Amino acid sequence: MDPVSQQQVVDAFRGATKSEVKRVAFPSNFDEFDFAALEFVGWRDKKIPRRAYVSVPTDDGLVTLLLTQADAKPSAKAMCTWCRDVNISSQAVLFSVRRGGSAGRKGDTLGVLVCEDFRCAANARKLPPAFHKGTDVEQIREQNLADLRRRVTGFVAEVLSTED
Ligand SMILES: [Zn+2]
Repeated sequence: MDPVSQQQVVDAFRGATKSEVKRVAFPSNFDEFDFAALEFVGWRDKKIPRRAYVSVPTDDGLVTLLLTQADAKPSAKAMCTWCRDVNISSQAVLFSVRRGGSAGRKGDTLGVLVCEDFRCAANARKLPPAFHKGTDVEQIREQNLADLRRRVTGFVAEVLSTED
């Protein structure tokens, strides 16, 4: 797979307005994003507070979504919906995403609790904090990654399910 360009990420936006897409600020380490290896990539907009983006390879191609962090802070040590990192190495916060199609244009959103630094892919690759002798940790890791991919693409499918 060729490296994904910023233009491809921009072209993959769904449910965001043209002016929102125009203002997207990419992180300086964008070139390090490994779209081929990771379940998704996410980053916070360094210029717009509470704005973040996730770009997700799906069976139907790349999908990029615009996320808005909610004002309300979840209780400390909330667990991320996507990686369910039991070590809670990242703080999970509540984001809302505009739904696809006219539903989204009318203000319909979906909420999701995700690591605020979007390190889910790294978190899911960590070994469990404790395991019994003889546990197949590679198999656990494979399962974690499959679960992460399923939850993230499931969320994307739910967001897009209202597209007309
Ligand atoms: Zn996470």
